[in-house]
Amino acid sequence: MRLRNITGSREMIAASDYVIHEPQQYRGNWTEIFGNDHPIRIEIGMGKGRFIMDLARMNPDINYVGIEKYSSVLLRGIQKMEAEPLPNLYFIRMEAEEITQVFGREEVDRIYLNFSDPWPKDRHAKRRLPSREFLRRYDEILRKDGVIEFKTDNHDLFRFALDELEPAGWHLDQVTEDLHHNEEMMRGNVMTEYEEKFSSLGNPIYKYIISR
Ligand code: SAH
Repeated sequence: MRLRNITGSREMIAASDYVIHEPQQYRGNWTEIFGNDHPIRIEIGMGKGRFIMDLARMNPDINYVGIEKYSSVLLRGIQKMEAEPLPNLYFIRMEAEEITQVFGREEVDRIYLNFSDPWPKDRHAKRRLPSREFLRRYDEILRKDGVIEFKTDNHDLFRFALDELEPAGWHLDQVTEDLHHNEEMMRGNVMTEYEEKFSSLGNPIYKYIISR
């Protein structure tokens, strides 16, 4: 097997100023990191980070945090930030299950989930980022008037995500089973890396926006 040369990605992340290294320390005090009290929006499972970097560049008065569990993937985002530093964006390398230890009650203004891992086996349903278990965590950290925006090309994951809403106390604000042909929901759409790949294969993109 040929392994890509990712040796040292942990070390490179540990040395990066674009990464918050002990994020639990800032729980409830993220304004300190950014030096202002602008709203904070997060992407959970940001991958290489193009989506959140595009948002941060377009919206300098909003703060962004990109969360990713794999160092090798996060490193790509860090390299992009080195080429183009954005003052309103930081990254965290962490497992999303710990999100309530990192953000305080209602500290987050919006949550983005893009092309989350499907975890197709039933016994892994709890690991799916739009599951009721995760919705409960988001409920803690998200402002009462905040929303979650979720995009995927995975039909089964989307159906699952829709079924989780009512039991968890959330409702649909907007929904489409073909985002790229929905003029209203497509307005201002920022493509993610996966979205570009899968939509170019002809897959429809599903999206919901939910609130409580
Ligand atoms: N959002 C990007 C990447 C999608 S792939 C895009 O749309 O292009 C899903 C990403 O989520 C992967 O990089 C994976 O490592 C990350 N991820 C999945 N589960 C996670 C979890 N529980 N905590 C943190 N990151 C997670």
